[in-house]
Amino acid sequence: MKSEIGGKYHYSGSSRSSEAKMICTQGEFRVLDEEGKQLAGARSREVKVSSRLGSVPRMVRFPDRSCFETPDNDGLDEWLKASGRGSGILSVLEGKLRYVLLLGLATILLLWAFVAYGIPSLAKVAAHQLPRDFLDEASDFTLETLDDLVLEPSELEEDRRKEIRSLVDATFPWKAESDYQLLFRRGGEDLGANAFALPNGVIVFTDELVGLLESDEEILAVFAHEYGHVVERHSLRQFLQDSAVTVLSFLIIGEATDTLQEALNALPAIFLHGAYSREFETHADDYAFRMLSEAGLSPKSLGDALRRLEEEHGMGDDMQYFSTHPPTEERIRRANEAEWLP
Ligand SMILES: [Zn+2]
Repeated sequence: MKSEIGGKYHYSGSSRSSEAKMICTQGEFRVLDEEGKQLAGARSREVKVSSRLGSVPRMVRFPDRSCFETPDNDGLDEWLKASGRGSGILSVLEGKLRYVLLLGLATILLLWAFVAYGIPSLAKVAAHQLPRDFLDEASDFTLETLDDLVLEPSELEEDRRKEIRSLVDATFPWKAESDYQLLFRRGGEDLGANAFALPNGVIVFTDELVGLLESDEEILAVFAHEYGHVVERHSLRQFLQDSAVTVLSFLIIGEATDTLQEALNALPAIFLHGAYSREFETHADDYAFRMLSEAGLSPKSLGDALRRLEEEHGMGDDMQYFSTHPPTEERIRRANEAEWLP
């Protein structure tokens, strides 16, 4: 730290000024003339110091209204800091740093809450208010895309298809026929044994799934799970949520990232069953447990179907019925427990 800083002393109440130096001893600022005679002095807390603005000389104003002017901004700042005073706007900001940090934290928390709770709630409301036309259009587009990309025409016997449709109709007679439509496709290499539900109630079973499931109960259980996705509008909600987050991040980060484009392509991808949230899968399982119980069937059959599908697909494959959370083990355990519920 400097022992003295040079500058000009402006006498109180006159335009007179002279060369002088300022020293700082024991928290006291003192201005001395060239002979060492004191011109002004005060404790550092009693002087007023102008804010630092680039290299503009600073004014130190004493209680007697005299002023010491110095271009030595760094020297003065060092003294002010040592005597417990920051300088200008920096010190103000330093003093308010905790509030700035708190405000930043509050903003992040609010944003997180909006993404975690606000968007899903809005997406739920929107998904349930979308008109039938929109659901049909979105569903047609999705099925066409999937037909182009991964699905092949079903090779299942017409009789077998009829049999499964009648089985579903007979087991869940309270479901209006217009509520759903059961279609069959070959899953091929990409999808294999699989099932998915489109927003308008079209539920697609792959031939491989029908071949894999060993009992009517298992087929009904998978149907009930997919029907749960339809009733809860999961596909649309997932789509709206994902796009909202993407659009939001686009607005905040301000970059037209690839993800924005990806969001627009997300609808078909969601039906490949890799994109449902853990919450949606759990809700669809719960819906299926209730639906099966109402039909006098055991929820355990969903667990059996899940087990079979897991064995078929193995673990770690991206595009499969169970790549989703929650893990199959947990879903099977819940199915087994649901059986004992009243
Ligand atoms: Zn599902």
